[in-house]
Amino acid sequence: MRMEIMNRKGRKGRKEHQTRKLKPRMNADERRCKYSLFACIGVHLRFLFVFLCVLCVLCGSSSAAELQIAQDGKSDYSIVVPPHSSPAMKLAADEIQKYVEQMSGVKLPVRSGEIERGKPVIYIAMSPHSSHAVVRADEATILIACNSPDGVLNAAYRFLDLLGCRFLAPHFDHYNGAAEVIPKQKTLTLKLDSTIESDPKLKFRKLYVEEGHSHDIQNLKQLAEWTPKVGYNTLVIPTDYQGSGRVRWDNWRKELTPELQKRGITIEVGGHGYQNFLGAELAGGKYFAEHPEWFAKSAAGKPQKAKQWVFCTSNADAVKQLTTNFLAYIKDRPEIQIFDFWPPDGARWCECDACKKLGEPPDRQAILLKQVQDAVQPVRPDLRLEVIAYSSYLQPPKNVAVDKNVLVDFCPISQHFDAQINDPDNKNKTYADALQAWRKQFAGDISIYSYYRKYAWDSLPVIIPRYMQKDLQWYATLPTQGVSVYSEPGDWFTYELNHYVLAALAWDENVDVDALVQKFCAARYGDEAGVAKKTLDALERIVRVYCSVPHVPLKDPGAIAKAQAEVKMLVGDVSSARARAMDENVKRSLERLGLMCTYALRDLEIQHLRATKAPREQVVEQAKSLHAWVKSHADDGVFLIRGNRLNQNRMLTRYGVGEPRKTPAMPE
Ligand SMILES: [Zn+2]
Repeated sequence: MRMEIMNRKGRKGRKEHQTRKLKPRMNADERRCKYSLFACIGVHLRFLFVFLCVLCVLCGSSSAAELQIAQDGKSDYSIVVPPHSSPAMKLAADEIQKYVEQMSGVKLPVRSGEIERGKPVIYIAMSPHSSHAVVRADEATILIACNSPDGVLNAAYRFLDLLGCRFLAPHFDHYNGAAEVIPKQKTLTLKLDSTIESDPKLKFRKLYVEEGHSHDIQNLKQLAEWTPKVGYNTLVIPTDYQGSGRVRWDNWRKELTPELQKRGITIEVGGHGYQNFLGAELAGGKYFAEHPEWFAKSAAGKPQKAKQWVFCTSNADAVKQLTTNFLAYIKDRPEIQIFDFWPPDGARWCECDACKKLGEPPDRQAILLKQVQDAVQPVRPDLRLEVIAYSSYLQPPKNVAVDKNVLVDFCPISQHFDAQINDPDNKNKTYADALQAWRKQFAGDISIYSYYRKYAWDSLPVIIPRYMQKDLQWYATLPTQGVSVYSEPGDWFTYELNHYVLAALAWDENVDVDALVQKFCAARYGDEAGVAKKTLDALERIVRVYCSVPHVPLKDPGAIAKAQAEVKMLVGDVSSARARAMDENVKRSLERLGLMCTYALRDLEIQHLRATKAPREQVVEQAKSLHAWVKSHADDGVFLIRGNRLNQNRMLTRYGVGEPRKTPAMPE
């Protein structure tokens, strides 16, 4: 009931965002009418025939179908793409060829040209008036179509999923070739209960590189390859994360750009922050030496060099220099489609009087954004700017409007994962309120910068398919238009279910999550899927509530002991399943699932010590021992050790027994 009231309140006055698919599916006549438009006048005669064929397939009376694509290692099918197809469409054809061959041993010929109705053909086509990714069968013709090349590619992967291919994770090296599960079957049958018409609910479905502890060019390519397979569509890479030069678009752009472009993946670059274009260390320190007034002033009026200080945004010359540098950057990098124009992380804002007059940080960010946006418009009108709603600028600005063409990234950084984002009795309410305030006054797109795989979890198995669904169902009521998640290869196995399910939720927040988890487990864990699903379900209930997850209060010793007992059982069950398993890949997956459970169990043991007020030394000893154990499994794809993110002091700090930090706090 409470939810319903909030929904109504949330939707008030924002009709343009009511994109929920409330209308019923088109009937055959409506569909015919809609598609007949696309055989429009002016189409070259040669293509008219092709279009008419597509029209026949689209408008035919097909519903349920069972087609044998290969039988006993033989096939009459061929794959056809229209002449002059885009790279994504050609890739769609190649991918179907590749996976059908992997499954059945038959290499279907790919040709460019026209089709004849009734012939066994897999036809890959653009359907200009349908934004749905379509998989449809009519007699022996299978149509794979959408109105965009990346949509067609996605439809191709949907088709392969129907045939049994499971794209569970990117081909990272630690999967040893088992990231995907492609069943071997000499007879390949497509069973279609009805036409598949799929339309993503969220426009932006992003993977963030962000801190990039374990990314390199090889696994970034692997990530790009996987992105459209499950339905993500944007990769976000920092300009230069924390200015260290390590996680930097320029390090990878040459090799990565073609990989992203041929898949129609949106290239988003930027992040924290302004200092990449106006920093004290840039231009050999010249800016600071010659123009200290461009930089932030402390309350005492002293110019500040440190990166977390936002430069003096009320200084027109400083803004001009930053804009000049920014324009040069984006002019040289035409591949960038969205730029994240954010303040530095942990931002401290200039304390000079002129800056104070501009207003609070949300207003100061919006004013600077507008100045930069006006300068970008004539140079790169195609470039979309993104701002961040975060930290001291979480709220929308009070006196300045943000242009509706700007994308807003909303960051609930301290989300408490033992309650949903819209729980009115939790600190999460701050975020829900701020987001609703944004929705009320901002007409453009808002994407959620989610923490559904969070650095501060230190690779704890916070498994949350159902939790994410409830959040996304609430976000859909506002509505919002995107969601993102970090994408570290280093501990991908731990969070692979989160990544897999989030992609599906971004397409449809009401997807049957239980069935999806079942499907995932059947592919990843084979005959032991039952044990694995029970384990993952239990981890979802336990870890986010009882383990040392930041912002989740320590529970009482009795409740922790109960959780401990349950996880201990899981460790035993997974170990028995591993001993039983015959398939090597299943065995390996269970071994890794076992590592996840053991980490949770050992974490709960320390949580119990803390809850019973055990001596500090005991907690330190256990935490050190746990860190050594985690480190010994650095190469299993379960724990993110590379990049020194999960160092010993970090783990001690998580248990409240760390040494005070000597360096500035890392963001979460
Ligand atoms: Zn200032």
